[in-house]
Parts: sequence; C-alpha cells; structure tokens
Amino acid sequence: MGYDSGMTHYEIPGEPPEEGWDIHCHTVFSDGTRTPGGMVDQALRCGLNGVAITDHDTNAGWHDAVAAASQSGMPLLRGTEITAAYGSISVHMLGLLYDPANERIAGMFSTTRRKRLLRTQHMVERMAKDFPITWEKVEQQVKEGSRTTVGRPHIADALVAAGVYRNRSEAFAGAVSAQSKYYIPTPSPTALEVVETVKQAGGVVIVAHPGDRRRNSTLLSDEQIGALADAGLDGLEVWHRGNLPDQRRRLLELAHRYGLLVTGGSDWHGDGKPNALGENLTDEATIRLIAERGVLPPIA
Ligand SMILES: [Zn+2]
Ligand SMILES: [Zn+2]
Repeated sequence: MGYDSGMTHYEIPGEPPEEGWDIHCHTVFSDGTRTPGGMVDQALRCGLNGVAITDHDTNAGWHDAVAAASQSGMPLLRGTEITAAYGSISVHMLGLLYDPANERIAGMFSTTRRKRLLRTQHMVERMAKDFPITWEKVEQQVKEGSRTTVGRPHIADALVAAGVYRNRSEAFAGAVSAQSKYYIPTPSPTALEVVETVKQAGGVVIVAHPGDRRRNSTLLSDEQIGALADAGLDGLEVWHRGNLPDQRRRLLELAHRYGLLVTGGSDWHGDGKPNALGENLTDEATIRLIAERGVLPPIA
C-alpha cells in the first residue's frame, strides 16, 4: 500500500501500530480525571514514544503539559478535541500543533464558550418553571473553577442539591436528558468551519473516531469525508476502540482515496473511562508528517 500525496510519500499503515504515540488524551482540563503531569507520568510508565494532550474545546492544559513533558523528556504534541456539527451529525475533530494566538481559532473557541453558556442558562430558565432551580444555584455546583464550561452536569448537581433527584444519573435520566422538553442542543461550529479554522491557524486536523456507532447513529458519509478532505482535512483516526473492523476497513479505504493520514489514539480519560493509555497508537512516520505540517513544534 502507499501513494504519493504532494511531495511526501506516505505509506498508509494497514494494521494498528504496536509502538508509537497516543495522540488522543483528556485531562482535568476537560473531562479526564488526571492532570497533564499525571498524563505524562503514565505515558512514561507505558513506554510510549510520545503523547498528545487533546482536551475538549480548550488548550488551557497546554502550559502544564509542556512543563511536565520538558521536565521528564516525554515527547508531546499540543492539541484540542474540537466539538463540531455536520448537519445533524455530531463530529469530534483533533486539532494539533496550531497557533493558539491565532485570532480566528481563539475567536472560534470563545464564541463556542459564550454560546454554550447562554444555552445552559436557557435550559435552566425552562426548568425553573417546573423545579426549584436558579442560575445561581447551578453556578454554585461548579467545583472545577473557571477551567470548565458550565453545562448539564452542573444542572444535574443543582437538581440533586434541591432534592429533585437522588443523584446525577437520575437527573440525566430525567429533566437533564437530551430527550426532555428542557433540552437545547450544544452549539458547535460546523465541521467545515473547524477544518478551515485549524488550517488557518497552522494546525493539523483529524476526524476523531469517525466510525464510532455508539456515539452516532448516523456516521459521516464517504461524500462528507471527501468534502472535508477537499477543505483541507489532514487525517482520520482509524485506530480507536469505537471503530469496529468494518469501519476500520472503510476508513482505510477513504484514507487512500482522499490522501489522508491514518492516526490512532486511546481517548484516555484517566479513571473516567475504561480506555487505557496507549491502547491505540499512531506510528512514527505519521507523527513526522503531522510535525512537518504543524506550525508549533512537538516538545521533544
Ligand atoms: Zn471524542
Ligand atoms: Zn476524546
């Protein structure tokens, strides 16, 4: 297998690599349970060649990750898992090695945060008609400080504190559920907008777990992935526990057709999910191309 994409010959890996980098990891800066330093320690223990920090919709953990990586000598890529939408399909995209000071990408993140805050406030207004809940009571439930976006988990905690439900899960099965009449979808940029924005910020952009049927009843179609490739998409995360064998075959075929990189990552969340750090990897040849394309250097 292999083809020529522009100047660089890239051999698409047909099998998951047995060694390499884990470039899809979450920390306490989004919904992971470990600090960036804890992530770097764990990467050392697993004997990874390198690791990437990719918290949801933020780069607030980069500073701590760089400090830990430089101190320990664990190679690091800086990235973000960006939530996007393609029509009604929710799409996660890994943006790597982009310039965080780029106005367009910084603006995209702050717009998303502002719209999400308004959305959560509107949901609370709807619920306040039926439950003893106020925006102030929801804000009191935010224990993570300013690093987190107030969202449905905090509404759930406020309903528990008010005695409406016994625990968060019960609240999520009730008023907080995506099926309830109070629900408003999470505002997100379009997938096309994310591709264009990450490219303009000098980064590398990859669709995360594009074949994960547990996340989406409808997956991106071949044509939709082709449209993202035309817009500048760099790769597809093929090696991910959510992509079953039939989807991996399809995604490899699409990577050949559109000249896309093939990456892998564990989607590690510390103790928050069963995913083990290093359970899926990206090979060195692919990492080299990512590093060549990105405006930020890897921390070596
Ligand atoms: Zn994801
Ligand atoms: Zn993830």
